[in-house]
Amino acid sequence: MSGGVEGASGPTEGPHNKACPTAGGRRKPLRGGAAGRGSAVRPLAVVGRVLEGFDESGRPIWHDGMLVEGGVVRYLGPHPEARAGPGARLLEVEGAVLPGFTDAHAHLMSLGLSLRTLDLRGVGSVEELKRRVAEAARELGPGAWILGRGWDQEEFREGRWPTRWDLDEAAPSNPVLLLRVCGHAAVANTLALATAGITDSTPDPPGGLIERAGGRVTGVLKESAVQLVLSAAQRGSGEELVRAGAEALLASGVTCVHAMSVGGEELRALAALAEGGGLRIRVRAYLDAGVPDPRPLSVGNLMVVGLKAFADGSFGARTAALREPYSDEPGNSGLLLMDRGAIASALEGARRRGLQLAVHAIGDRALEEVVEAARLAGAGGLRVEHASLAPPDLAEGLAELGLPVSAQPRFVLSDWWIVSRLGGRARWAYPFRSLLSRGVTLAFSSDAPVEPCNPWEGVYAAVTRGAAEGLPAARLWAGEALTTEEAVRCYTETAHRITGERLGRLSVGYPADFVVVDRDPLALPPAELRGVRVLATFVGGAEVYRAGGLEGP
Ligand SMILES: [Zn+2]
Repeated sequence: MSGGVEGASGPTEGPHNKACPTAGGRRKPLRGGAAGRGSAVRPLAVVGRVLEGFDESGRPIWHDGMLVEGGVVRYLGPHPEARAGPGARLLEVEGAVLPGFTDAHAHLMSLGLSLRTLDLRGVGSVEELKRRVAEAARELGPGAWILGRGWDQEEFREGRWPTRWDLDEAAPSNPVLLLRVCGHAAVANTLALATAGITDSTPDPPGGLIERAGGRVTGVLKESAVQLVLSAAQRGSGEELVRAGAEALLASGVTCVHAMSVGGEELRALAALAEGGGLRIRVRAYLDAGVPDPRPLSVGNLMVVGLKAFADGSFGARTAALREPYSDEPGNSGLLLMDRGAIASALEGARRRGLQLAVHAIGDRALEEVVEAARLAGAGGLRVEHASLAPPDLAEGLAELGLPVSAQPRFVLSDWWIVSRLGGRARWAYPFRSLLSRGVTLAFSSDAPVEPCNPWEGVYAAVTRGAAEGLPAARLWAGEALTTEEAVRCYTETAHRITGERLGRLSVGYPADFVVVDRDPLALPPAELRGVRVLATFVGGAEVYRAGGLEGP
């Protein structure tokens, strides 16, 4: 379908398997009659342990069954089948039923694209990178685009960034674009640069950097410069990519996604799918700055609710804006892309259009600008993406102003180098306990495809904080670990406070968005949290995913 890299990673080694493990492992049977996939018409009696949500003190509320009618929860308690009218479906669950998870920051189309892209996570050297590209070139033949993502120069034995000349050696006859793991930087080969019209004399685009050495373009692209080549690359259609991303999320038990940085092509694809009933996951879209005339929209499962803006870059690329320079690069404090005035005026502009503003802020300097913008313009409609480095004064500011945060617990494990990058400041990286105890609205997310879209990876990371992995920061972070209950809550009901929706719980009257898992995650030892398997996913009472091999009786 892509005419490109779909087959490049092989049928069994595809990044899908790594990004979103959905089947396999310990399977318990899921017995359900005539599932009526996609149909919410017939009542559904769920017999088994059902987690309604959490009480005000954070304790889980369990029931022995649930009756779903008209797509909403009608009854919670024992013997739901006795209360259902004739013709009701019966679903017997041996594991547990949980409210559907919300991924409060993911990139749908990029996720779809990543599923047909070389997965370069864990590549240990430039030489290995070249081998992988050369293999893909042999499989695809000359001319086909080779896209990849996930490399990290920190992990390269050579201790340097890859260049266009490395990639030219591996695949001289294919345009190649390989995104760094953070997505904020990439390397392209000569053919890809030429296809995008980039030469030694091309000026840096606004908010981006085309790296040069001795006046020659090296192939390394940062921030908006990545887009110059990415937009020239051939990929699948927008609808194919969005659908692939949505299916991967549903298979991971995610029933609602806050889709970030949605561009024109992705918006058209989402709207077309939503209109045709082909969008089975709830999508709350935050539009990219490049979308002309943005406005609220509600069609089917799609709602356009906000705009997305960037106040800085990433730790990995050392472009996140810090108050003090990087500990491993004195003289570099990152790249502040918007100050408080710019954020405040963007927020006011969004409000005039009836939209929220989601601001990406990873470094403490960028976060400070967002907090100060909220002091200038009020916090209404403003949300912070990442807030990765949040020392106590900024955590206090977030709480005081009521600024909600969408954070990615899986970064705890991926940013294993954070102590060398930030020194002692790393203590305040991903300070989830500090945020929650101050009363900050904290929603969890994956930032997929940056991290795997499986929320149990995030729950595991939030609860264990890298202790088992022996991360250098684990000792600093010991006090920031959450309980499983807290982490699940951050993945279920919290995100809907940001959008003001009645979702994320299974209380009577709520839409029946739920996930069937193979065991009770709240009773598991933390080390086993990543092993939770999704057996089925329902949105509005309709079955939208069922694990392979678990078809009805
Ligand atoms: Zn993101």
